[in-house]
Amino acid sequence: MSKVVIIGAGFVGSTTAYALMLSGTTQEIVLIDKNNDKAHGEAMDLSHGASFVKPVHIYAGEYEDCKNADIIIIAAGAPQETGQTRMDLMEINKRVMKEIINNILEHNTEAIIIVATNPVDIMSYMAWKFSNLPHSRVIGSGTVLDTSRFRHLLSARCNIDPRNIHAYVIGEHGDSEVPLWSTANVAGIPLTTFCESCINVCTSQKREGIIQKVRESAYEIIGQKGATYYAIALALRRIIESILRDEHSVLTVSTLIEGSYGVKDIYLSVPCVLGSDGVEKIIPFELNDEEIRSFIRSADVVKSSLPLEFRKTFARHS
Ligand code: NAD
Repeated sequence: MSKVVIIGAGFVGSTTAYALMLSGTTQEIVLIDKNNDKAHGEAMDLSHGASFVKPVHIYAGEYEDCKNADIIIIAAGAPQETGQTRMDLMEINKRVMKEIINNILEHNTEAIIIVATNPVDIMSYMAWKFSNLPHSRVIGSGTVLDTSRFRHLLSARCNIDPRNIHAYVIGEHGDSEVPLWSTANVAGIPLTTFCESCINVCTSQKREGIIQKVRESAYEIIGQKGATYYAIALALRRIIESILRDEHSVLTVSTLIEGSYGVKDIYLSVPCVLGSDGVEKIIPFELNDEEIRSFIRSADVVKSSLPLEFRKTFARHS
């Protein structure tokens, strides 16, 4: 029996509950929101579908319901408005994060915490610092979503099932993220080799266009419909599944970087092995010089946006 608590029953939180419910990943889902009516309404609507899925108990709760939870997702906070960057959200969401972490810790110090609130690398770092929990158990959704967007676009370009595209986006979940072209492959064949037998000629401009689209997707969707939630909900479900089932899947979650590629003491996404203990290992990919430089630049972007009180203890990376 597993229990997942979702704090923040907005677009992301409630869609994640729906994705979990459909997949049968967990038997108990609790929604907590400072807007009680919102949490109750979403929980009621979701539970009315219970006769169509595997048994699951969904209800609106209070922080004391965090007790015995295996996983606690934080999707609460101010949403990203049109034209607003993820960094603009930082000050507001810092206060939200501190309050939520304190409330969780009163009832549960054993769960794995997954942060989706933006800017997610900074919010995950803050959640880790505020909580004092082992960093393996405080995880950001990071670039799991961006990696999926990258694979989707490559899949359309290569005309291959996205599940056979192995390509990762690392670094910040944001404008400085880094696509790993050097290790991208299609069903085990390096992308450059695959390209030789493909009728679509991918120039460097085409590649730049693909990654530009990955970076701009959220802005485009928010401009068109106000929020993004389906794909992030599936990304969160995938992270949760890997933890609850101890799958040891490799996912680009945001985690504490302790020296990878010359970067340390910051949360960024890298390919991680996810199991029942949370982030069990970072997979040391061999990056080319340009990718390493981009990763360091991405770390600088995130570091320079950290509030001063966190930067004081920040060890400068080379
Ligand atoms: P939303 O406004 O629909 O939902 C946010 C919910 O949080 C609201 O219901 C609000 O009442 C609640 N909330 C606010 N402060 C709270 C508090 N102190 N305690 C409890 N609940 C509180 O927003 P959304 O579209 O669901 O987005 C939520 C967050 O997820 C945002 O920060 C957004 O930028 C982020 N997001 C992240 C990704 C990602 O890839 N990591 C993708 C999409 C959205």
